[in-house]
Amino acid sequence: MDVSRRGFLKISGAVLATSGIGISLKPVSAHAQPLKIMYTKETTTVCPYCSVGCSIIVSTREGKVINTEGDPDSPINKGSLCSKGGSIYQMSVNENRLGKPLYRAPNATEWKEVELEWALEKIAENIKKSRDASFKSKNDKGETVNRTEGIASVGSAAMDLEECYTYQKFLRGLGLVYIEHQARI
Ligand code: SF4
Repeated sequence: MDVSRRGFLKISGAVLATSGIGISLKPVSAHAQPLKIMYTKETTTVCPYCSVGCSIIVSTREGKVINTEGDPDSPINKGSLCSKGGSIYQMSVNENRLGKPLYRAPNATEWKEVELEWALEKIAENIKKSRDASFKSKNDKGETVNRTEGIASVGSAAMDLEECYTYQKFLRGLGLVYIEHQARI
């Protein structure tokens, strides 16, 4: 039996309709989904994970991060991101991230949640105490050194260039000489 294409579709439709499968061959209407970045504010940032320094567009709505993606206008990454940079959205939107600092007192076995202001005060107190106790203005030869060897810093790869610059200035101002960064370890 010769069956044209149109005839085949009619027969198939009839078979489907009578077989109870419930599949309709009627045309369906389609509609475009609204973009999730609609009505968001776009700002650019620099990926903090490595020194390539890829640029990222961050879309926010009412102060919340809605989306992150590579910045096509960047001459460095031209819109692309590696898997680490591509997952940066989770840095902001992640229920597993700690929302408050944790503090473990000397000799304690348990960590406890503390307020950020309290943690900053505590860090400042400890830095001052260690610096005062270890600061040397002269070395053994009588040369001016103005340094402390009682504090060391291991910086974070989560800091971008400007943050690293400011942090470095701050540490040198305190007189630190042991300054290291995660990317060099
Ligand atoms: S996206 Fe990847 S390559 Fe680019 S800066 Fe971030 S970690 Fe480095």
